[in-house]
Amino acid sequence: MDHMTHADLRSDTVTRPGRGMRSAMADAEVGDAVYDDCPTTKRLEAMTAELLGAEAALLFPTGTQSNLAGLMAHCGRGDEFIVGQAAHAYRNEGGGAAVLGSIQPQPLPNDPDGIIDLSTIAAAIKPDDFHNPITRLLALEDTFNGGCLADEYLVEATDLARNHGLATHLDGARMMNAAVATGREPAWIARRFDSVSLCLSKGLGAPVGSLLAGPRELIERARRIRKMLGGGMRQTGVIAAAGIYALENNVSRLREDHDRATRLAEIFHEFPELGAGQARTNMVFMSPSGIAMDDFTAFLVDRGIIVGGSYGTLRWVTHLDVDDEAIESVGRACKEYFDR
Ligand SMILES: *Cc1c(COP(=O)(O)O)cnc(C)c1O
Repeated sequence: MDHMTHADLRSDTVTRPGRGMRSAMADAEVGDAVYDDCPTTKRLEAMTAELLGAEAALLFPTGTQSNLAGLMAHCGRGDEFIVGQAAHAYRNEGGGAAVLGSIQPQPLPNDPDGIIDLSTIAAAIKPDDFHNPITRLLALEDTFNGGCLADEYLVEATDLARNHGLATHLDGARMMNAAVATGREPAWIARRFDSVSLCLSKGLGAPVGSLLAGPRELIERARRIRKMLGGGMRQTGVIAAAGIYALENNVSRLREDHDRATRLAEIFHEFPELGAGQARTNMVFMSPSGIAMDDFTAFLVDRGIIVGGSYGTLRWVTHLDVDDEAIESVGRACKEYFDR
C-alpha cells in the first residue's frame, strides 16, 4: 500500500508480515532444504502434514507450483485430469498442467459454489479404450470464490472419483478459511483427498510459500518434480519460520476476516446499484449496474480504497491488514458516492 491507500481489498495476498512474523524469520535456524537439511523447513512440513492428517508435506514457493507438482506427481504424459473450468488450476495458472506437465485438462462447468455436477464428472471419465486419454485425477478447489464446498459434496465427489479409480487433488489454497467457516478440522477436509495444496501467502499472512501434503511416496515424487520446476530452494528456513508463525497465530483469526466480509456485504446491500452478493468467507463479489464501474473504482481510489475486478465484477477480500476502520471507510465512501 502506498501512503494514500488505507484499505487494500484486492486480495488477501497483499498482507505484509508484521513484527512478530519478521522476528521469527530473523531468528530462524536454517540449513539447505534441497538436501532436506533445513530444520525450520522440516518443522513447517511436519506441522502441516500433522494439521492435514497426511504422511508428509513439502514446501513450494507458490501455490501454482505446488498444484502443478501435485498434478504431475499423479498424472503421466497424456493422462487427463478433470477440473472445474473456473478453477484456479485450470484458468489462472498459465495452463501449466498442459504446457509443463503434458497433462490434458478436462474442464467441466462449475456452478457458482464451485460444484461440478457429479453426473457430469462421471460422464467425463473416459472408458478404457486405446483411443482415449487415461482419466487419472479429479481436482477440486475449496474455498472456491470464497465459498465452502459442502461436506456431502466433498464426500460424494471424492468417493465417485475413487470408485472410478481416479486420484483426487484439492487446491486448498484457502482451505483454512473453509475449515474455520464450517467448523471442520482441516484434516477432515484434507483426508478426502490424495493430495492437498495449501497457501501460506493468502489469508494466513505469510509473505511466500505453499505446501503440498499427501502420502510420503507421492511427496517424494513431487520433490523430484519441484527440483525440475526450479522450486528447490536452499535456506528456506527464513520463509518456513513465517509459515510456522502463520499457522500458529493466524488461523483462528480468519473468523475476523469472515465477520468483516459480512459487515462489508451489509454495507453494500444498502446500495442496490452495487449488485453485491452475500459474503462468502473473506470475499464479497459485486456486479454493479446503472453506475459506471470505472468511475466508482476511481472514486474509491481517491479515498485510498482499492478493490480487484474483472469482467464487470468487483471482488472485495478481507484480510489481516483490513481492520474495522477500513471497512467503515468503505461504507463512508459508498455513501458519499451515492449522495453526490
Ligand atoms: C492463490 C491461489 C493459488 C496459488 O497461487 P500462487 O499465487 O501461485 O501462490 C492456487 N489456487 C487458488 C484457488 C488460489 O487462490
